[in-house]
Amino acid sequence: MSRRRQIYEGKAKILYEGPEPGTIIQYFKDDATAFNAQKKGTINGKGVINNRISEFVFTRLSHIGIPTHFIRRLNMREQLVRQVEIIPLEVVVRNVAAGSLSKRLGIEEGEPLPHTLIEYYYKDDALGDPLIAEEHIACFGWASNEEMQDMSAMAIRINDFMVGMFAAVGIRLVDFKLEFGRIWDGDYSRVILADEISPDGCRLWDIASGEKLDKDRFRRDLGGEEDAYQEVARRLGVLQEDGPSEVADINLHRKLRGKK
Ligand code: UDP
Repeated sequence: MSRRRQIYEGKAKILYEGPEPGTIIQYFKDDATAFNAQKKGTINGKGVINNRISEFVFTRLSHIGIPTHFIRRLNMREQLVRQVEIIPLEVVVRNVAAGSLSKRLGIEEGEPLPHTLIEYYYKDDALGDPLIAEEHIACFGWASNEEMQDMSAMAIRINDFMVGMFAAVGIRLVDFKLEFGRIWDGDYSRVILADEISPDGCRLWDIASGEKLDKDRFRRDLGGEEDAYQEVARRLGVLQEDGPSEVADINLHRKLRGKK
C-alpha cells in the first residue's frame, strides 16, 4: 500500500523514512505485547489513542522546555518525529511500588515510595531488558556521564509535570518508562526525549477507585483495555477536536467485531 521505506517494525510501532532527511514517521499499531513478547494480542483502537495521548504529552513537555523528537501528528495513526540515535536504555520512573519492583523487593503494590525512584534497564529483547546500575552504563559506554545527568534531570521534571497533569484528571501516575535519543550537530550531540508516552508504558490508576487504566489490564487479563485507554484519552481531552468520529470509528469497529 505504502511506497515509503520501512526502517523498523517494533512491537507497537512501525517506523518509516520521513519526508525530509533526519525525520521519521512513527505509525502506531493496535498490537500489544507483554512479558517480553511472550503474550501477544491487540487492543482495538490503541494505536489511534496512543498517537493522540503521546502527541498531547510531548507537546505539553516541550512547552515546559523538555527537548523532544516530536514534530507533528500527521493523521490518526502517524506522527512525524526527528530521527535520533536511540540510547539503549529504558529509564523507568516510579512514584508508587508496582510491577517488577514489587516482585523483586517484596513491596506491596500501591505502597507509595519514600521518594521518586529512577531505574535503568538495558534495552535488549534477547536478554529480557535486564535491570542495570549506572556503573554498567558507564562501564560499557551506553551513555556518558553528562548524558546520564541530562536524562535523570529530564526524567524528574517529566515526572513532576506528569504527576500533576494526571492528578488534575483524577489519575495516579504510579510509574512510567522513557526512552531518549541523541541528535548530532557535527561532533556534538544532545539528548532529547524519544519514543512515546502512553498507557502502554505508564501505570495509571484511577485516584478514587484504584482501577487500572493502562496496559496492566492486558498483561493481567483484566479485560476492558479498550475502554481504559479511551477513558485516559477522554479525561485528558484529546479525543475531542475531531475525536467523536475517531471514537465512533473505534466503537463501530468493536460492535462489528462483536457481531461476528
Ligand atoms: N515498561 C515499559 N516497557 C518495558 C518495561 C516496562 O513500558 O519494556 C513500563 C511499564 O508499563 C511500567 C513501568 O515501565 O509502567 C515499570 O515496569 P516494571 O519494571 O514494573 O515492569 P513490568 O511489571 O511491566 O514487567
